[in-house]
Amino acid sequence: MGMLASTKKELNKRLDAFENACRASGLRVTSQRREIFKAVAASHAHPSAETVLCTVRKKMNNVSLDTVYRTLASLEKMNLLIRVGTPEKEHFDGDLRPHAHFICSQCGEVYDIFSTAELPDWKTAASACGDVTHVNVQLKGICKRCRH
Ligand SMILES: [Zn+2]
Ligand SMILES: [Zn+2]
Repeated sequence: MGMLASTKKELNKRLDAFENACRASGLRVTSQRREIFKAVAASHAHPSAETVLCTVRKKMNNVSLDTVYRTLASLEKMNLLIRVGTPEKEHFDGDLRPHAHFICSQCGEVYDIFSTAELPDWKTAASACGDVTHVNVQLKGICKRCRH
């Protein structure tokens, strides 16, 4: 199976998860909600709300930035995507596979870090507080492009 096929398969898996989560929380699967989710889930670039708006507007031109923000916030609450970056430059990520993010404090770019390294000590320490359901690791620094 090629790269594209597996990406398509992964996207369909995410869309299924989206529809199931909507049903479970009694939300209608409107085409608007679906397109907003898809704009994040199909992207590998951690889009901002503005970028999501541009993508969605190619298909439906009556969507406002406010609607995009509210929808993204509700999708985040449903654990269908995560918010990464800084408050000044927020990005959204539909890739829920365990990974960390490197955020450049100069250009604001968000990089995925996939590593087999685990965080067992942190998880064990956190279990004293409760059950860990999500791990969100962000590392900040200056990226290679900004470094020189
Ligand atoms: Zn940078
Ligand atoms: Zn990511």
